Formats: sequence, C-alpha cells, structure tokens
Amino acid sequence: MDERKYLKVDIQSSGIRVLKGDKGRIGGAGPAGAKIFVFDDTVANVPTTSKFVENSPYSLELEGESGILKLYDAVVTAIESPVPKFYEFETKAGIPYNQIALLHGKDCLATTPVQTCIYWNTPDRCKFCGIGISRKKGTAAAVKKPEEIAEVADAAKRLDNVTHVTLTMGTMRVADKGIRVLSKCASAIKDLTGLPIHVQFEPPDEIRFIEDLYSNGVDTVGVHIESFDEKVLREISPAKARIGSDRFVEVWKRSVEIFGENQVSSFIIVGLGEDDRSVIEGSRTLAELGVYPFVLSLRPIPGSDLENEVPARFERMKRIYEEVAVIIKDAGLSWKRSKAGCVKCRACSALDVFEEDV
Ligand code: SF4
Repeated sequence: MDERKYLKVDIQSSGIRVLKGDKGRIGGAGPAGAKIFVFDDTVANVPTTSKFVENSPYSLELEGESGILKLYDAVVTAIESPVPKFYEFETKAGIPYNQIALLHGKDCLATTPVQTCIYWNTPDRCKFCGIGISRKKGTAAAVKKPEEIAEVADAAKRLDNVTHVTLTMGTMRVADKGIRVLSKCASAIKDLTGLPIHVQFEPPDEIRFIEDLYSNGVDTVGVHIESFDEKVLREISPAKARIGSDRFVEVWKRSVEIFGENQVSSFIIVGLGEDDRSVIEGSRTLAELGVYPFVLSLRPIPGSDLENEVPARFERMKRIYEEVAVIIKDAGLSWKRSKAGCVKCRACSALDVFEEDV
C-alpha cells in the first residue's frame, strides 16, 4: 500500500487515538465523533472518539494546533488541527460563537439551525445519526437565529478565511421539511457576508420549495439518500426508505435544473450492509444526473444506534473510491467545481485523493 498517498482513507477507516489535546466534537449532524486534520494537500474529518478508535494503530499528541501522526511507533507525518479564532467570541446575548457554528474542514463554516429531528425519538430515526447528541451534552444551541448565524459567518470570514457555509438540519414536521428555515438563514448569511452557501434537506412534499432556496441565496444543495440498497435503507433509515428512490430522483433532477450540474450532491454511506455494486451503480445513477456522489465510510458516532459498528475497511474503501472516481470524471464532475458545502469541503470523503489519479 502507498501509505502516504492513501493516508486519508486509512485514518478515516481506522481513526486516530488522540493521546494529548482536544479530541473534537462528540455529536451533531453529519459525521461527528471526529476531528479535522490538515496534512499534505488535503483535509480530513477523522474519527477520534468512536469505540473502534481504541484499536487504531494511529496515534497523535497535539501541542496546540500541531502534532506528529504516528503509525505504531513510526512517524508518518506532521499534521495540523486548526483552532479557529472566531471560537473566542460570543454574541451580544452571551452565546459562544462555537455553540452557533463550527469550522468544518479548512474553510467551511457549518451549522444545524434547528438541532432537532422529528424522527429522533422514534423508531424511524436514522441509525447512524447523532443530531440529538450534542444538544443533550449542551455543546450546541438547539435553535440558532438567522442573524446570529450570519454574525458568526461574518466573523469566521474575517478572522479565519472561511470561504463557504454548510447548513444542515433534521427533518421538521412541515410540508417544506425545514426548507423555509434554511432559506431564512441563507438569506441572512448572504446579505451580510456574500459567502457561497450549501444546504441539506429531505425531499419536501412539493418541489417548488426548492426554488425558494435559490432565490434566497443558496448556491448548492445536498439531498442525501444514504444508501442505494433498499433493504439496508429500510433498516437503517426507515423514513428515507418510505420516500422512495423515484422521489429522490425527481428532487435531484429539479435541483440540478435550478442549481446546475455539480452543485447538487448526495451522501452514499459505505458499511451499512450493502455490497460494493450498490455503491458504484448508485454513484453512476447520481453522476448521470449531474449529482456528485459523496461517497464516504460509515462513522459509528458515540451515542448513536450504530456506535458499536466499525467503518468500512481501507481495502474496500480504496476499491470503491477508485471506481467512483472514474465515474465522476466521465460525467465531468469534480469537487473542485463545487461552489459550497461538503463536496467543496471534502473532509469526510477521500474521493478528492482519487480524483487526482484519474
Ligand atoms: S464534508 Fe461536510 S460534514 Fe464533513 S466536515 Fe466538511 S462540511 Fe462538515
């Protein structure tokens, strides 16, 4: 194995034992239980607090923002874990900025405007999700006002060179599924900062709600099917399974019409019990629609229903990334063309490394 070149894949599959220094965020939407590391030409969101990490051969002692990554006793590379300056500030109402939004990756500000989901306390909740966990631990405000998020985005842009914003959310019990809330936040951020904005949502009851996002300054959207294996989806994410893949296709198509090719994405999680073909053919389906398949390994978030699982192993992820990178290239897609969000951030998937190879 070319350890250095595919280091991102290996540390995302194995995790890093942080022996000294902050281990990163515990819960939240998206791949939590992890910490952001910058090294070589990439940036990686790496599991640090999940149970399986205890067995990782990788370890790190951080001195401030820097450390030396080791594989057993051998030095692998110097690694950075940036601590943003905007975390030192708070709003006029006394809410710390880092309870409103966090730095993701190198230059992406991310937040969950409403940190709840109608499925959280029901059997329908996505088993990999940790949206209710950071709220329980009091590390994030439950509801963030649009003007507060905009204020933090402005500070993050000035102090930490943030260049784009990701807004994600649990599902709300309204026909738009929360899109109106996201629109208001996007509009406030855009007015104050002009930053490119990415939002993520479940397919709404009516497609017209998506147009709202565009007129409120949203640049890219993520509509995440999570798995193309219907049996797996029914088990892991029952609410999404009920929506059905036809509806997802409809929403992806309309979203591409509105936001353009490469500006729409879907997470595909590897390691939920699906086979490689479902990931690869699912990626092909997305790419043919102009949707970027954001393939990543499962993150067993501490406190989530899947906390005792392990991520997909290195060999499997490498094999899948290699095939998906070709599909992406053939469709003319690339993380480099994305204006905002997870695809541009690229911290949670290692596809960027493989795009370089094709
Ligand atoms: S890829 Fe998305 S979820 Fe992952 S760190 Fe970046 S913005 Fe956050």
